[in-house]
Amino acid sequence: MANSKYEYVKKFEEDDRLPPSNWIVVRIDGCHFHRFSAEHEFEKPNDEKALNLMNACALAMLEQFSDIVFAYGVSDEYSFIWKETTVFYQRRASKMLSLCVSYFTSMYVSKWKDFFPHKELKGPPYFDGRVVCYPKSKIIRDYLAWRQVDCHINNQYNTCFWMLVKSGKTEKEAQEFLKGTQAKDKNELLFQQFGINYDKLPQIFRKGSSVYREKVENIVKVDGNGNPVRRMQSEVVVDHMDIIGPKFWSEHPYILKEE
Ligand code: ATP
Ligand code: ATP
Ligand code: MG
Ligand code: MG
Repeated sequence: MANSKYEYVKKFEEDDRLPPSNWIVVRIDGCHFHRFSAEHEFEKPNDEKALNLMNACALAMLEQFSDIVFAYGVSDEYSFIWKETTVFYQRRASKMLSLCVSYFTSMYVSKWKDFFPHKELKGPPYFDGRVVCYPKSKIIRDYLAWRQVDCHINNQYNTCFWMLVKSGKTEKEAQEFLKGTQAKDKNELLFQQFGINYDKLPQIFRKGSSVYREKVENIVKVDGNGNPVRRMQSEVVVDHMDIIGPKFWSEHPYILKEE
């Protein structure tokens, strides 16, 4: 290839290849979604359609990029876990990050009408992102636990906050009312004042959403004798289970298996 005298400018580019043998987490977060959700009249505290739209975008990501082994989402954020051995884009941080942000955003816009057929997109939704390396799968589990605990704390607060607002308090009064309250007080408030059993609220609100590959046995064809031929296949699924305890991980050891 011909080298022009301008070629030297390439040398100014930094080598941002991420260290080998590390799990790579890309976390994206909606920019100004407080405003975006208000403009599009999302239900408070949780608009289920908006969450399902986020989940559909994450599902599309796992279907497109086989080196993403797991994704976890809550509110306007999603974390994508790339396997430790990935050599996607030579592990270049800027490439992997920008790709996640743009692919997700693009999906969000193109799938919007499937989830909100009667709502026009008013402004462009956009996301920021960051990339972090973790050297051990144990830390990835702690990372995911951190996000799921955050989901729980925020959801409990927001459920109380919006119930107080819907019952006539101003946003400022509701905020004041909840200042300094513990988890137990909030559960009590929901139950006593609004008859809500927090533990009975939909899992998607309390636990967030996880996207991963499930091994399923499918009938792929019928043989000459009319017997079904089964094969193990993997299928990208969305679920709302607990990812803090060991149960899910011991049932799905292949997701965070280290090589
Ligand atoms: P930033 O640009 O700094 O991220 P932000 O306004 O997006 O600011 P976040 O802390 O990311 O702030 O919070 C996201 C906000 O988006 C929530 O506070 C909530 O108001 C709103 N939101 C996101 N998803 C939903 C949803 N499914 N239902 C209702 N509200 C939502
Ligand atoms: P990568 O994914 O690594 O960026 P790439 O295939 O996108 O690979 P680039 O080096 O970014 O490669 O080059 C972009 C290519 O896209 C060009 O070589 C050209 O073939 C094509 N392309 C971009 N814009 C146009 C356009 N307006 N008309 C025709 N071809 C275009
Ligand atoms: Mg945000
Ligand atoms: Mg957020």
